[in-house]
Amino acid sequence: HLARGKAERWVSTTCGYCSTGCGLLLGLEGDTPVAIRGDEACATNRGQLCIKGAYQWRTLRHPERATTPMVRKNGQLVPVSWEEALQVVADKIREAIAEQGPEGVGIYGSGQLTLEENYALTKLARGVLKTPNFDSNTRLCMSGTVQGLIKVFGADGPPGCYEDLDLADCLLIFGCNPAEMHPQLWRRMLKNRLERGARLIVVDPRRTIPARVADLHLQLRPGTNIYLLNAILHVLFRDNLINREEVARLAVGLERVEEIVKKYSPAEVAPLCGVAAVDIEQVARWIAEAKAATTVFVQGVTQSAAGVEAVSTICTLHLLTGHIGRPGAAPFSLTGQAAAMSAREVGASGFLPGYRNWQNPRHRQEVAVYWGIKPEELPAGTNDIGTMLDMVAEGKLKVMWNIATNPVVSLPEQARVRPLLEKVFLIVQDIFYPVETAQYADVFLPAAQWGEKTGTYTNSERRVNLAERAVNPPGMAKTDLEIIQLVAKRLGAEEAFAWPDPEAVFEEWKGLSRGRPCDMSGITYGLIRQERGVQWPYPAGGVSQQRLYTDGHFWTDPEQSQSYGDFNQAAGKAWLFATDIPGEILRPTEEYPFYLNTGRIMEHYHSRTKTKRIPEIQQLAPEPFLEINPLNAQSLGIKEGEKVRIVSPWGTAVARARLCDTVAPGQVFLPFHFGDADYQQPTAGNNLIGNVVNPLSRQPLFKLGICRLEKCPD
Ligand code: SF4
Repeated sequence: HLARGKAERWVSTTCGYCSTGCGLLLGLEGDTPVAIRGDEACATNRGQLCIKGAYQWRTLRHPERATTPMVRKNGQLVPVSWEEALQVVADKIREAIAEQGPEGVGIYGSGQLTLEENYALTKLARGVLKTPNFDSNTRLCMSGTVQGLIKVFGADGPPGCYEDLDLADCLLIFGCNPAEMHPQLWRRMLKNRLERGARLIVVDPRRTIPARVADLHLQLRPGTNIYLLNAILHVLFRDNLINREEVARLAVGLERVEEIVKKYSPAEVAPLCGVAAVDIEQVARWIAEAKAATTVFVQGVTQSAAGVEAVSTICTLHLLTGHIGRPGAAPFSLTGQAAAMSAREVGASGFLPGYRNWQNPRHRQEVAVYWGIKPEELPAGTNDIGTMLDMVAEGKLKVMWNIATNPVVSLPEQARVRPLLEKVFLIVQDIFYPVETAQYADVFLPAAQWGEKTGTYTNSERRVNLAERAVNPPGMAKTDLEIIQLVAKRLGAEEAFAWPDPEAVFEEWKGLSRGRPCDMSGITYGLIRQERGVQWPYPAGGVSQQRLYTDGHFWTDPEQSQSYGDFNQAAGKAWLFATDIPGEILRPTEEYPFYLNTGRIMEHYHSRTKTKRIPEIQQLAPEPFLEINPLNAQSLGIKEGEKVRIVSPWGTAVARARLCDTVAPGQVFLPFHFGDADYQQPTAGNNLIGNVVNPLSRQPLFKLGICRLEKCPD
């Protein structure tokens, strides 16, 4: 409960940072935010907040909030009226389409937008502009999960719920650090471990906080997830720890998986992964003998060359051991941003709305009819942000509209990204000015942020929460929804975007979700307020479903499935998966002898657009640091706090050395939050990461870099 003044009233809302979706109360004195506290009535966090959630109210009236539209004139962004800015935007979009067709325009959105804003943007991109060039920054976080879940279950959507973290008697944390990324969920896992004695296994190249309190920590070598997962499955088959009859009832592909994993005995795999064979055996047995096991996984799994495949193999592990669709038993992918799940649901991150498939004629028909266009008017498919930038390089994509995301810090291979943003006509829509990407903007549009607009966020357990407007946006800033509506109006689509408020957008969207895995047709704003969040699926006239696949029926009907490609899926049954392709495409060399791992820290969020402006947070983590094992530091003559230049095949960055045993010898870790602009020198972790993606998910490999270290004068 943090206060600067006396709150006269409290607005019940949802945290706008991570996908945990904590409930909170924002305290107001008049119309000034003065305090915040966790909402005791919210089952997710029971009154607790992490440091980011507790201080986010400080950004609402920040002096650097963007308040005026701007257009670049004579090389400078200068303030203009909304009328003028929107006219430039509409004219440029029309020109680009006239020159190149719909492919001449691209939109890059965000999991920071609400579900309603993401839906409106999807409708504009696909239904009005009819462009394939529409993606979201959720591409960077969890697109591997989407594809991995679809492969096995036939549909996106995490099967588990937060209660599973409380009820599991075996928790496997695979490639994630919830203590920093999802602190309130880690609190629940830790409580389960301490009070109910749940076993805790952590698979992570770093010795994180969860790893330090785990029963077993497998500190594997980066890029070896598939080897390890195959070896765990190998033990299950070898030791007859699988109920074959039960698995056959739920899934197909048992023999194929058995054949593949036969080759991966723990003895052979252990040296590849850098872990002990006996530990692999132990993990397999603990999972097999658990009454209820839950695997929590995030970017350590998905941000790798075989990220999709690793997600599918984790789901297969759960199907083989029966840990799915029951309390405490789930393969549970957490998401990153508050509305990352929403972006997936409404079609803002690759698929058609409602997890529909581009190649399915019936799905195309459903969407087109709903929007009053012909199916053939929809684009043939979709392009990710990496492909969009390739098209900028080729001169095919002329106008890019960048909303609520900061690619000048967050995209890999910055040396490639920045000249392309310079080349394209760039519209930047953001809540703060300056922001790194805006230095390349031709038009800047000031947007409202969390607390200044109403809308929903779907959290990691499929719970649709409401974030409520408590104060007005500053100056001339408008909500992202209003801006999208105004652009649509200037493009001649006023009627289709004439919603009076966000609730009307939600009502339209939920009709399109009807009958789909993410069916929200039974959900209303009133119900969300009454229940403090409602989980989908919740069909009209039905009930909310806490867990998916409780009836053993999956979405793998080839008619319904989003992506079946080479998979001979049997209708209604899950598809068991294993692969021989480990995706270990990068190893240290003589020139670049270290593995480079990039990731998050608890204090900062994404590219620090908000968190660096909160003094209480910024002083805790003021500058980039590089975790180095003391053995390596000693041999390189690097001391604690000294500056180090990190050099990779793709660029350089400078950070202060932090000597610790969190990283193993031969590995270093660099938080990705810190952009170059604030430090007058290259500091961005993404200067160092190459533009290499998983071919299925198109997700970059942020977790698998290589580098060398050089001492650097202060
Ligand atoms: Fe907000 Fe996530 Fe922290 Fe909860 S855990 S307060 S949702 S940032």
